[in-house]
Amino acid sequence: MRTPLIAGNWKMNGLSADARALAQAVDNGMEPAQGVETVVCPPFVHMAAVRSVLGDRVALGAQNCADAPEGARTGEVSASMLADLGASYVILGHSERRQYYGEDEALIAARYSQALAHGLRPILCVGETLSEREADRTEAVVANQLHGFIERLDPGTGLGNGVIAYEPVWAIGTGHTATAQQAQAMHAFIRETLASHDAALAARMQLLYGGSMKAANAAELLAEPDIDGGLIGGASLKPDDFVAICATA
Ligand code: PGA
Repeated sequence: MRTPLIAGNWKMNGLSADARALAQAVDNGMEPAQGVETVVCPPFVHMAAVRSVLGDRVALGAQNCADAPEGARTGEVSASMLADLGASYVILGHSERRQYYGEDEALIAARYSQALAHGLRPILCVGETLSEREADRTEAVVANQLHGFIERLDPGTGLGNGVIAYEPVWAIGTGHTATAQQAQAMHAFIRETLASHDAALAARMQLLYGGSMKAANAAELLAEPDIDGGLIGGASLKPDDFVAICATA
């Protein structure tokens, strides 16, 4: 009942010619969408060019958005500007933003509310570090992230039509993937945690796995009942891999 969703997170990669070429290669390889939502999230500066290559055939997403409406926020890009470019998704709270730019639950919640207010679907990232997993704190960490986040949202809007990506930090860009069993266990845990706030929302919300997902391991991960798609970093820069993952979903 939940539509599979595959999102490519290009991170801070590529000059403009690379972005166009990658978009073109994705477009050439992509079968017309059959019950799968596909999204690419280029760096802000390449979004318009990617949109002009892909049109509506693949949805456009951003990798962040401002925590406030347009105005005096030097260096930020507002959700309204992204919507105006044709974006329909935005990744928020990625572990790299939390780690390198100190983003916390309050800031991410403000960004999330802006995204919803401008019709973007936020993809909220949560996940534990290796030391947290080794200390057997995985569930506690993810539960804290989720509860801390949800309580900062406008109760009237809540999580809205957002998406949650479970991204164990130790699996991001490392080539180490959570096993399908580990990933499923955490997805089920996230769904239960969401259900403690809103059971109907928990049942319909798409939960993505992220962390070294690639063509070779996508089928096994996506076969799990609570894994509804993937947030793909490294493999989204390889068009054959990305297209193959979309076909698997
Ligand atoms: P990865 O990145 O697929 O390269 O591990 C995933 C992500 O950071 O979203």
